[in-house]
Amino acid sequence: MSLTKGSGGHREKANLRDTVALNPLFVRPGESSELPKFTIPDGESLSQTAYQIVHDEAMLDGNARLNLATFVGTWMDEHASRLYTEAADKNMIDKDEYPQTAAIETRCWSILADLWHSPDPANAIGTSTIGSSEACMLGGLALKRTWQHARRAAGKSTDRPNLVMSSAVQVCWEKFCNYWDVEARLVPISEDHKVLDGHDLAAYVDENTIGVVAILGVTYTGMYEPVKQIADALDEIEAATGLDVKIHVDGASGAMIAPFCQPDLEWDFRVDRVVSINTSGHKYGLVYPGLGWVVWRTRDALPADLIFSVSYLGGDMPTFALNFSRPGAQVLLQYYLFLRLGRDGYTKVQQGCLDVAQFLSGEIAKLPAFELWNDGSDIPVFAWRLRAGHTGNWNLYHLSERLRTRGWLVPAYPMPDDLADVTVQRIVVRNGLSLDLATALLADLRSDVAYLDALSAPMPTEGQHPGFHH
Ligand SMILES: *Cc1c(COP(=O)(O)O)cnc(C)c1O
Repeated sequence: MSLTKGSGGHREKANLRDTVALNPLFVRPGESSELPKFTIPDGESLSQTAYQIVHDEAMLDGNARLNLATFVGTWMDEHASRLYTEAADKNMIDKDEYPQTAAIETRCWSILADLWHSPDPANAIGTSTIGSSEACMLGGLALKRTWQHARRAAGKSTDRPNLVMSSAVQVCWEKFCNYWDVEARLVPISEDHKVLDGHDLAAYVDENTIGVVAILGVTYTGMYEPVKQIADALDEIEAATGLDVKIHVDGASGAMIAPFCQPDLEWDFRVDRVVSINTSGHKYGLVYPGLGWVVWRTRDALPADLIFSVSYLGGDMPTFALNFSRPGAQVLLQYYLFLRLGRDGYTKVQQGCLDVAQFLSGEIAKLPAFELWNDGSDIPVFAWRLRAGHTGNWNLYHLSERLRTRGWLVPAYPMPDDLADVTVQRIVVRNGLSLDLATALLADLRSDVAYLDALSAPMPTEGQHPGFHH
């Protein structure tokens, strides 16, 4: 086609240039110029242009598969992706419009109640949530309301509730205490008591204690808190004082590892004092972000006055949630995985992660620069610190920054009270970190350590920031 002959041809050429469809990618208006970023643009853009702009900017985020900081799923198979696209429009709260999604939600938490050894799964109750944070809020609220009912019935004050937990709890528990006016009684961790283990518990528990949180897979290190031992300590407290204090297990990650890889560990409803358990469907539940679960041992453990009704097939469906609208697709993805993997498949996937975690921790332990904090045999997560006296020239923040230049996100951060002077670095092994990738990571880690060890002067310390840990 000749566009250059005569003046009419020129006009045609200009028009064509504006009909963006013919413009090569990246030189269309919006891509070759700039759209406003903090005010809404005046006009429309082609969907292709808008897509390209957002797609390209998201490309600058880290590579999710190399992000060894997060616990949250970064890989699902093609059938899951297909299901996700098909179900992206489902709103979880519309139980009336999507009764099958609602039924599948009930099946999923029933499966979890059974996996967690509910003594009577037909009498358990649970719900999906947007993540463990919401699930923990619901678990905490049920403890608080139960305590309030008991105190009021006994004619006692409900002014000063407290919740007892380790200083290494995930931030959602501090939020819970802040948002719902509960005193957070934090039991400090130490070199001798690396997790909440029941020691000295009587000094923290009193008549205003709404419950104790036990963490199955401490976020900072991946270590399990010994739920049975904590329950035994509470039995002793009850024998001495008459106080019957219940446990909520925060199994955000461990509640989807232990049933498959440590089946004999008693941490769940087999322990009588455990009244509720949460997990993140989007952590070792293996679903993409946006899914948590909470299950109560029996209906009695969840006070009825916390439950609301939504319309469901002309009837009423009980709900207990902080959100109203919420994506329903993740619930279907969880059910897909339960069917796809079954007990055997989950065991293989989780054991594969544990194997890679222990391979990595074993190799890191061989480097003279480091000392392991734990070895990744509870959940596939482990942390290490710099060996005392190894070097004055660099620290774990420097190593973290060097690993980042190759795309690896391996955060360094201070431990919580009373160990805030200890800095650790942590790796979370998720489905998708193959032995091959782990070997590549080790090669980079070794060469970065060699580089830092060869420095003849200290690295600058400004600009360091504790890595974000989830
Ligand atoms: C990740 C985590 C949470 C928060 O879970 P989200 O699903 O990210 O909301 C709570 N507790 C523990 C122990 C965790 O590891």
